[in-house]
Amino acid sequence: MNDRRAFFQSTFGRLLNEVAKRTEERVAPKRWFRPPGAAPEMAFVAACTRCGDCIDVCPVHAILKMPANGGGLAAGTPYLDPTTRACIACEDMALTKVPWDTVHMGVLELDPQRCITFQGAECGVCARACPIGERALALDDRGHPVLKPEGCVGCGVCVTACVTSPSSLKLSLA
Ligand code: SF4
Ligand code: SF4
Repeated sequence: MNDRRAFFQSTFGRLLNEVAKRTEERVAPKRWFRPPGAAPEMAFVAACTRCGDCIDVCPVHAILKMPANGGGLAAGTPYLDPTTRACIACEDMALTKVPWDTVHMGVLELDPQRCITFQGAECGVCARACPIGERALALDDRGHPVLKPEGCVGCGVCVTACVTSPSSLKLSLA
């Protein structure tokens, strides 16, 4: 009996989470990269006090404050712009401590038309810069970058480290 109750409770809980996730995607689609450890968008906008403490403690000043104009309900909340200043996936994690392997701030893509290793040059700067290491970004036998979405936290370090302009790597909202 207890097993059945636990089964129904866990199935119902999963369903509720899925419904909440889909509702949020419809009602409040993601528009900004949030700092690591941020709750889902609606809960985050509701819970954030706009105190700015996370902005002050970030050691690389990667966290920005959403301006009043253009931010709507999110005005004053913290966000990241990984194309200009990457999060360095530090141990301090400004918002809340969650394991880094549960963080996926963005989805990384590689443009092989731009990456110089696909034109016969040696590089690998992005992989050497990645704070997570080979679990997130490795190089194959020919020196081409290999993205590992399951390990990538979406910090953007590789995007800003890439030697091409524009970068051969791009982060999109997860
Ligand atoms: S692959 Fe890039 S975005 Fe992903 S963790 Fe490494 S540096 Fe960050
Ligand atoms: S840094 Fe840029 S050009 Fe160099 S290997 Fe990485 S993606 Fe390719």
